[in-house]
Amino acid sequence: MIFGKVYAAPKLPMFSPGMNELEALTPTGGYGVQARWKDGHDTGIYSWDYLRLICPCEECTRVREAMMKEQEEK
Ligand SMILES: [Zn+2]
Repeated sequence: MIFGKVYAAPKLPMFSPGMNELEALTPTGGYGVQARWKDGHDTGIYSWDYLRLICPCEECTRVREAMMKEQEEK
């Protein structure tokens, strides 16, 4: 009889509550920001270039398009 045993679901340390919630962005070293997350970890430095790349706002979209045009002209 092997079906009688109930295994507890293993805890996944990678998925703690709040891990995808930003708590603070701290400018660091002039080249980017350091992200602190609500689950307490604060790894991850994002460069301004990277933030420009992923930011959906109007200003960043304009900057991205201008940068792409510049590259095409080279
Ligand atoms: Zn933006």
